[in-house]
Amino acid sequence: MSELAPYASDPARSRGRRIAEPSAPTRHDFQRDRDRIVHSSAFRRLVYKTQVFVNHEGDLFRTRLTHSLEVAQLGRAIARSLGLHEDLVETVALAHDLGHTPFGHAGQDALDECMQPHGGFEHNLQSLRVVDRLEQRYPDWDGLNLCFETREGILKRCPQAIAERLEAEEPGGVGRRFLDGTQPSLEAQLTNLADEIAYNAHDLDDGVRSGLLDMQQAMAVPLVRRHAESALAEHPTLAAMAPRRWLAETIRRMLSAQVYDVIDHSRARLQQAAPADAWVARGHRGLIGFSPEMRADSAELKRFLFANLYRHPQVNATTAAARQIVRELFDGYIEQPQRMAPEFASSADRARGVADYIAGMTDRFARREHQRLTGRDLFAELR
Ligand code: MG
Repeated sequence: MSELAPYASDPARSRGRRIAEPSAPTRHDFQRDRDRIVHSSAFRRLVYKTQVFVNHEGDLFRTRLTHSLEVAQLGRAIARSLGLHEDLVETVALAHDLGHTPFGHAGQDALDECMQPHGGFEHNLQSLRVVDRLEQRYPDWDGLNLCFETREGILKRCPQAIAERLEAEEPGGVGRRFLDGTQPSLEAQLTNLADEIAYNAHDLDDGVRSGLLDMQQAMAVPLVRRHAESALAEHPTLAAMAPRRWLAETIRRMLSAQVYDVIDHSRARLQQAAPADAWVARGHRGLIGFSPEMRADSAELKRFLFANLYRHPQVNATTAAARQIVRELFDGYIEQPQRMAPEFASSADRARGVADYIAGMTDRFARREHQRLTGRDLFAELR
């Protein structure tokens, strides 16, 4: 680990765990949190959860697990240059998507609709719920009993009403900043940005490799065009002779440009604000971020992916099937809770127990469970 800046999070000055534990002999608390996450059952299931492509569509596309690893890699690289705490970035990156439902955003939207009469469903809150309550690995408590800084980083969004509820349950805890209007740690902000850099790049990569997008079309986006053209200027035969290498080289250049932009822009902001420590830094806005030009470029790439990939007719067809599967699972378990695993069937709040059970499913388990409950295989019917 390179030298830490004064405003970096420091495990020795952590706000600690909700239940006090003796420190470990060879690992500090952020490393320990990361190890708890890696050993959790929710983490193992990320390998069979959709990012954009449903898991069975091909082995070459990103899943939530490979996405989380890419976020950790990008985040650590930037943290190292800025003197922030790499281990906290890695920890938050590996945990940030633990609460995602099967079938990506289609699954989340369908589950949120089903849960509207019962308080709604949101994957960020669910990630916190997984590490705070749903993992059952310790004899004396529910959840993983993670540090405040890890939990704060996981809860990147939170509606006001829920922040008030969290604050009532845990005064001065992870809900507080949404009431005070302060920021999470710089490491949490950085992980959030690394998430955006990672998915924009890998969704473009998966989109082109799947054939749903093509390079010519993607070159309408200035960020893509600039780096696709610079790759061709140095290697003129790539487009015709090795289109996969051209795509990979373009994305590699795009990623580097974004990483260096975040480093340069954030370093300048940090030098100017010079927060005395990690707690003072939480009172400043916009210390970690893209330059205004790169912010606009990134937004344009995101708009392109929305219009051309996330809403592609072929993606929409699987999305509709995925939503139906989640809705029918929800209705089925509400009627017959005994068909769920016993720890969910016995929940005092039946709807929340059903949502927790469905949210924890992998794509293929949800598909099989749906088939078992209804006798239909909706994805097979699409072909
Ligand atoms: Mg993510």
